[in-house]
Amino acid sequence: MDIFERMTELVELLNKYAKEYYELDAPTVSDADYDKLYDELLALEKESGKVLPDSPTKRVGGDVNAGFDTYVHRRRLYSLDKSKTKEGVREWMEKAIKEGGDGVEFSLEYKYDGLTLNLTYENGVLVRATTRGDGVKGEVVTEQAKKVKGVLHTIDFKGTIEVLGECIMTLSALKEYNEDAKIPLKNARNAAAGGIRNLDPEETGKRRLDFKAYNVGYYKGISFASQKEMHEFLLSCGFDSADYFKIVTFKDDWQGLLDEAEEKRSSLDYLIDGMVFKVNQTAIREEIGFTEKFPKWAIAYKFKAEEVVTKMSGVVWQVSRTGKLNPIAELDPVDIGGVTVKRATLNNYSEIQRKDLRIGSNVFVRRSNDVIPEILGIASHTEESKEVLLPKVCPVCGAPTEMRGAYLYCTNGANCESGLISALVHFASRDAMDIEGLSDKTCEQLYDKLEVEKPSDLYDLKEEDLLTLDKWGAQKAKNLLASIEKSKRTTLDRFLMGIGIANIGKKAASVLADTFGTLERIREATLMDLLAIDDFGEITAMGVVDYFTDEKNVEELEKLLSKGITFESKVKNENGVFFGKKVVITGKLESMKRPEAQEKIKELGGTVADSISKAVNLVVVGEDAGSKYDKAVALGIEIIDEAAFLEMIK
Ligand code: NAD
Repeated sequence: MDIFERMTELVELLNKYAKEYYELDAPTVSDADYDKLYDELLALEKESGKVLPDSPTKRVGGDVNAGFDTYVHRRRLYSLDKSKTKEGVREWMEKAIKEGGDGVEFSLEYKYDGLTLNLTYENGVLVRATTRGDGVKGEVVTEQAKKVKGVLHTIDFKGTIEVLGECIMTLSALKEYNEDAKIPLKNARNAAAGGIRNLDPEETGKRRLDFKAYNVGYYKGISFASQKEMHEFLLSCGFDSADYFKIVTFKDDWQGLLDEAEEKRSSLDYLIDGMVFKVNQTAIREEIGFTEKFPKWAIAYKFKAEEVVTKMSGVVWQVSRTGKLNPIAELDPVDIGGVTVKRATLNNYSEIQRKDLRIGSNVFVRRSNDVIPEILGIASHTEESKEVLLPKVCPVCGAPTEMRGAYLYCTNGANCESGLISALVHFASRDAMDIEGLSDKTCEQLYDKLEVEKPSDLYDLKEEDLLTLDKWGAQKAKNLLASIEKSKRTTLDRFLMGIGIANIGKKAASVLADTFGTLERIREATLMDLLAIDDFGEITAMGVVDYFTDEKNVEELEKLLSKGITFESKVKNENGVFFGKKVVITGKLESMKRPEAQEKIKELGGTVADSISKAVNLVVVGEDAGSKYDKAVALGIEIIDEAAFLEMIK
């Protein structure tokens, strides 16, 4: 195939994908796959010196939807130039400095992954909201935008301005929406875009969308000398714009900031797909100018992809500790951010049905740092696609299965061999009782040969029992017994994690231990007490209550305690200076590392949080504090510096 044939093919393919993405809000390939083809086209255009007339490299976004009125933006909207490497950002900075001189500063912001909105205000009133469209004209979506939290209906400023920002759906709103949606939404980006480019504003409202303002496009009656001034103006109007904003120079460690942000990414409640650098000073921007697609004074540093498309080649059913059969999707191996992913969780059969997942179909898979890979939805079915069938018998013990609510169970319940062994493995795992040497295989051996069926049985094991096992010598037996003995001195959260309360993982166990301090108090906790905990919903709270009211569990718990298991009880320090306070630390502290300071706050009765919200009572501000400081000021939260903090913990 010659170069022009390939270019024609790429243009056609990319235009098809762009239509699905921008106009239908229903992509069939991942952004990473799209970007790869786009980069190939860019390279061929460079090599040949030619650009085909409808090339996407010279165009912004997609066509407007026929159902909407259109609006010609007062000032054109653009896309962003992108780099996947820090080297690319460095080269871009050097060019900016060449044109703007050594004094060039750069603003650094999150690159939100949603849908651009352009909000026009006249006389302090929102008169129109539009999408970016093709950059020149967009779709009028005023009624939809008014349903978005953070889109202000009025502002104090009375001149004419167009506020640009990203309409996003938070991950928690997406999760909640999908819990009882007939057709679940595939991902937060398309959910936001589809929520706006939807002719029914009621549907927009249901999606509980947010708006993050990041620029003023057109303005009259005001001027801005810098991005920083623009950012402060947006904040003063009341827009949500403060999540991340820093000014850096070429000499600063902006590379470190990029790494830090990428690491933090998975802890945010919304999607960001990179960071945006913009030349801070408006005067220098004017000198640098635009291409037909993007401003040359800005660039997006793209993070590694968290979402890919691959084939779902099968579904296996894994039996859990409670006898529940959990479907696991088998995937054609695929690299996501440097990790090979071969499997993904599926919650239950109804999820398979709602998402219309079929064996042999192409699916969107998402994985972020600490999240187990999940299937977001179907990218496309293929000719070989076939339905996922419910197993009639348990794949481990052969007992019949039955549906209970949304879940499939082995009728042998917790007595199913696989469930019992899983419970042992879980009890011994690193985040729970951390019993070294008790691998999955060993648990199987103990179960099969020594009748170890429950965690408490582990503490009755003797060296002579272990020596009867195949290939076990005295040393190996001694080591395991020593690890089992060592596990008796543990912490409450590890123990809570180990005993296998439904839905109580590492984090929830730690929250339970921190909140109640002792096992006794947790056992006595009522549903209301548990529901009062942040992030504890009904299912989690009920799981705890159910666990401690089940006779069998109580019997096992008593047995475990009778073996001499002890743990530090963490009673909250009610006399501590931070008692009852939620504290955020922002910026760099001179005297100690942040985790140490957070530990001190906890010791002195407080709780720590990562982000600023109205629930926060105190903010400790170190050096180079960024947007959290601004947000705390805006919300009127008490702020102290490091010296005052040291005084408090004295
Ligand atoms: P983009 O979305 O990658 O970047 C530009 C946009 O970033 C702006 O329009 C703005 O809305 C947004 N943005 C977020 N935070 C910002 C901030 N702080 N400051 C300024 N802008 C900010 O670019 P694009 O041209 O709209 O879309 C191209 C991307 O879309 C591709 O890289 C690809 O990943 C994706 N795409 C995917 C498919 C697909 O089929 N999967 C098809 C077409 C495009």
